[in-house]
Amino acid sequence: MKIHNFSAGPSILPESTIKNSADAVLNFAGTGLSLLEVSHRSKEFVAVMDDAIALVKELLDLPAGYEVVFVGGGASTQFCMVPFNLLAKKAAYLNTGAWAAKAIKEAKGFGEVVEVASSKDAVYNYIPKGYEVPSDADYFHITTNNTIYGTEIRKDLDVSVPLVADMSSDIFSRPIDVSKYNIIYAGAQKNLAPSGVTIAIVKEDALGKMDRHIPTMLDYRTHIDKGSMFNTPPVFPVYSALQTLKWLKENGGVAAMEKINIEKAGILYDEIDRNKLFKCTVEAAEDRSIMNVCFIMNDEYKELEKDFFDFATSKGMSGIKGHRSVGGFRASIYNAMPKSSVQALIDSMKEFEAKH
Ligand SMILES: *Cc1c(COP(=O)(O)O)cnc(C)c1O
Repeated sequence: MKIHNFSAGPSILPESTIKNSADAVLNFAGTGLSLLEVSHRSKEFVAVMDDAIALVKELLDLPAGYEVVFVGGGASTQFCMVPFNLLAKKAAYLNTGAWAAKAIKEAKGFGEVVEVASSKDAVYNYIPKGYEVPSDADYFHITTNNTIYGTEIRKDLDVSVPLVADMSSDIFSRPIDVSKYNIIYAGAQKNLAPSGVTIAIVKEDALGKMDRHIPTMLDYRTHIDKGSMFNTPPVFPVYSALQTLKWLKENGGVAAMEKINIEKAGILYDEIDRNKLFKCTVEAAEDRSIMNVCFIMNDEYKELEKDFFDFATSKGMSGIKGHRSVGGFRASIYNAMPKSSVQALIDSMKEFEAKH
C-alpha cells in the first residue's frame, strides 16, 4: 500500500531528492567516496554549495544586493540572529502563532518590541488585519505560514518599514517580491530538505549598522563573506536541498508551484466544507494556508475523531494528526505532495462519511 506522507515537518520531499541523496551517500559525484565522508572544501562539494546558492537566487528572482546563506541552528536560531543583526532600537512583530511568539520573546532581549496585533485569543485561527506598524521600527517581522494553525499570509505586505519573514513552511511555494524584505529565513525541513540546515536571504545594505558586538557565528556577514563555508556546513542537507531546488526548476519554478499548490489546497478545502463530518478551523478563505490544512470533526460527530484517524491510517494516510494545541487533523501538503495523495485523503473522507 502506498503511504501518503502528510507530516508537518520533517516532511515529504520529492522522490528525486531522496533517491539522489541516497546515491550520494554511497558514491558522491563519482568520487568513489560517500557524501558523508568527503571534505566540505573538496571541489565537488564547493560546487554543490555554489549551485544551491545560485539556484535559490534564480528561483526567487533575487534583486541585486541580496545574498543567500546556508547556516545551522534551525529557524529557532534565526529568532535571535535577526534582532542581533537588525534591531537597533525598536522592532514590530505580528503574533500569528507559537513560532511568532518565540521570535518575539527572543527579540525582546535586544530592544523595544511592539506586538502590533495578535490572534492568540482565538487559538491563532485567523490573520490579524487593520493594525498599524510604527514607521520608526527597524523592521516588521511576520511568519508567513503558521504551520501549527493552518493560516498563511500569501502576499507580500505593504508597510512603511522593511519586512523580515519566517518562511520556514512556505518558502518556494509561491513567487515573492524579495525587494520588500531585509531578511527571509526558513528551516529546510518543511519544504526543501532534511532538517539540519536553514536558508537566510539577506539584504546586504541592512547589515553593519549595529553598535553591539555580534558573535562571529551569528553575524550574517561572516557567512556571506565565506560563501556559507566559514565553518563546516551541514553537507548532507545542503546536498539534498540542491536536489529539491533542481526539481523545482525542472517543474516550472515557484510560479508553477503556486498554481498547483492552490489547486491541491482548493480541492481539500472544498471537501472539508462539503463533508458533513468535518469543518475547517480557519474560517476566512483568504487566511487559509495552502501548505497546512487544519480541520476538526463537526460538533455532532466529535466522538468519531479516533475512528476517522484509524480509518485514514488504514488507507495509507500518515502524519494527519493535528497539533495538540489545535486538535483534530492537519494535512501538510507541501510542494512535493502530489495531487493524487491529496485526492486519496479526500476519497477516504468521502468513504468515511458514507459509512456514517
Ligand atoms: C518548524 C518551524 C520553525 C522551527 O524551525 P526549527 O528549524 O526547528 O528551529 C519555525 N518557524 C516556523 C514557521 C516553522 O514551521
